Amino acid sequence: MPNKQCPRCNSLNVIKSGIVARRQRFHCKNCNYFFTVQKQGKQIDNYYVVKALQLHLEGISYREIERILGISHVSVMNWVRKYKIKVPENYEYHPTYRIFNHQELTEFMQNPTNLKGAGMIITEIGDKFMLIKWERFRKEK
Ligand SMILES: [Zn+2]
Repeated sequence: MPNKQCPRCNSLNVIKSGIVARRQRFHCKNCNYFFTVQKQGKQIDNYYVVKALQLHLEGISYREIERILGISHVSVMNWVRKYKIKVPENYEYHPTYRIFNHQELTEFMQNPTNLKGAGMIITEIGDKFMLIKWERFRKEK
């Protein structure tokens, strides 16, 4: 049986430590971290981990990320914790996003007014593209 690896420090110095919520819990003797193990064979590709963290940084909510990527919001929350991602507070801008295929994306980009006055990133999601655009909140008078 292959040794479990600590998700926090990657040490293999890990022992079984009881069952929590029907899942085997482990204890890392190196960094003292307790963790449970996801269902076997359900390791999520790092590609999606990076995508999910990107979206999180862009201000997309956990539930929305779950909907967009089809990854449980619990997994996303775990990655945010694991990789210590902290999103700076932001009250001036809010993100909107749209999903395009390549042709729609090209058409969107051809219209200069779509590109004016906003920051945006484009990221590949499966066979589509996601465009995240920041819009400034209107100042209340
Ligand atoms: Zn550890």
